Amino acid sequence: MKTINHNRLDQVVLDARKAADTRAEGYRERALKIYPWICGRCAREFTVTNLRELTVHHRDHNHDNNPNDGSNWELLCIYCHDNEHQKQIEADRGYTDSSKRGGSATHNPFAALQSLLKKD
Ligand SMILES: [Zn+2]
Ligand SMILES: [Zn+2]
Repeated sequence: MKTINHNRLDQVVLDARKAADTRAEGYRERALKIYPWICGRCAREFTVTNLRELTVHHRDHNHDNNPNDGSNWELLCIYCHDNEHQKQIEADRGYTDSSKRGGSATHNPFAALQSLLKKD
């Protein structure tokens, strides 16, 4: 009967994994029912065999915003999804083309500090 504890542990791990999957998969299942299995960026088509490479993107980047009509979802392949978030991260940091060429003097966090030090 040594195996019981081992199996029990496996079961606990399995249950925990399943719970996490269910939470994450909830909107995914719904999105896959609404939309055709095609990447919204590169138009790659998906079938049951490679469906796990098709991911659900949240247009407003809020994973808790899951309206029933699917208006906040977009199906993207993992590559385009990556790209999409990379773009967003760069936009958040202000890495746009215009600011790249505009020089770095506009937002200098030390400017105020320097002027304070000079006033000594
Ligand atoms: Zn794609
Ligand atoms: Zn996304």
